[in-house]
Amino acid sequence: MFSPVGLYIVGIMSTAVSVLILSSLSGIPGLYRWFGANILAVSALVVLTLCGASPTPMAILISSALLAAIPIVALQGFRKFFALRPSQPHAVVAYVILVIGLVYWTYVSPNPDARIISMAAFVGYFRLCIGWTVYIMRPPHRPRYSYQFLAFVAVLGGLVYIARAIVTGLGWEQHAHVLDLTPMNVAYIGIGILTLPCLSIGVVMLAYDRMAERMERLATVDDLTGALVRREFMARAELLLAHANRTRLRLAVAILDIDHFKAINDGHGHAVGDSALFHFASIMSKGIRRGDIFGRLGGEEFAVLLPETSGADAVAIVDRLRLQIATAALAIPGGEVECTFSAGVSEYETGESLKNLMARSDAALYSAKAMGRNRVVAAVSARAQTFGAVTEAPKPN
Ligand code: GH3
Ligand code: MG
Ligand code: MG
Repeated sequence: MFSPVGLYIVGIMSTAVSVLILSSLSGIPGLYRWFGANILAVSALVVLTLCGASPTPMAILISSALLAAIPIVALQGFRKFFALRPSQPHAVVAYVILVIGLVYWTYVSPNPDARIISMAAFVGYFRLCIGWTVYIMRPPHRPRYSYQFLAFVAVLGGLVYIARAIVTGLGWEQHAHVLDLTPMNVAYIGIGILTLPCLSIGVVMLAYDRMAERMERLATVDDLTGALVRREFMARAELLLAHANRTRLRLAVAILDIDHFKAINDGHGHAVGDSALFHFASIMSKGIRRGDIFGRLGGEEFAVLLPETSGADAVAIVDRLRLQIATAALAIPGGEVECTFSAGVSEYETGESLKNLMARSDAALYSAKAMGRNRVVAAVSARAQTFGAVTEAPKPN
């Protein structure tokens, strides 16, 4: 037959396993608070287990205070994970009031039902808060399962506690003390304890999802500039080309290369060179349209894919960006660094390969460099027709 002490031991073992698993993670926001919540759980369960079937009032008070702190600390962990301010003053105030109430109903005016109602309502409310926080903060672009699992487990545990508060409050069930071996009591304690390791499993799933997201980001986005890495850019370009081929919609590609970048590195140092790359990329990212794709092909060479855009329109768009970058010098200690780029633009022609499209943009870029840099040149059509205008850079004063 079940007994609360048996469940406590199961709880201790599974929570200890959760602590060991959480210890294997690192660098996840909220991890230390989740760790702390599990330590609180183990401590409370050890106190109750050591007391056996007849815990002293002091043991009940200490374990209740520890158990009530768990959802608050865990909620802080989730808030930190989702980049929210972790501590909530109202939670701390509610906790202090609860502990004062528990002391009062233990020593001044002993009342097990009042203790159970206040504890169950408190823990239930904060478990629901955890479920709600995880549910509304789940990132829309990530697989939903782990977030839904965690929210479900937290809400289930929360509802069980709230139900316990209501049932006891309505007088449908009365307890001489918290460890009464009534079937309902065992069920409450069992669900309360067993949802704890489920919460920890959910936490581990969230932590791994965050790590997977980081790895995916590292594999697709360039760390320094925030542009897509070459491989990702080319993969998306292939998809857009196939789409343009099917729909006959227009598509243009620009290849951009920063002018005399080596001179920036040589004159101001590699760190300023890096800042210039970041400066260039942030103006580009803000300047392109939604749906345009911006990638770093390597070094100081970038590319922009412009869906549903003609070659002539792409030349105009890239030239506007050229002007914007040429007039926004990068501020450095004691001066500023001017940064310009040259670009070659080509429009996709039905049936053309990405390699050919890029090669035509590259040839146009080469012409832009040969013509004096700081300009945008339209590529020769695959069918040997030109489109758009060659835009000249403003003459320096
Ligand atoms: P051009 O106008 O003909 O394009 O001349 P350039 O100096 O820009 O071209 P070049 O290919 O001679 O030099 C590119 C330099 O960019 C050389 C390389 O050291 C530097 N570079 C490549 N990647 C990075 C980077 O991530 N950070 C910094 N600071 N420099 C880089
Ligand atoms: Mg260059
Ligand atoms: Mg280059």
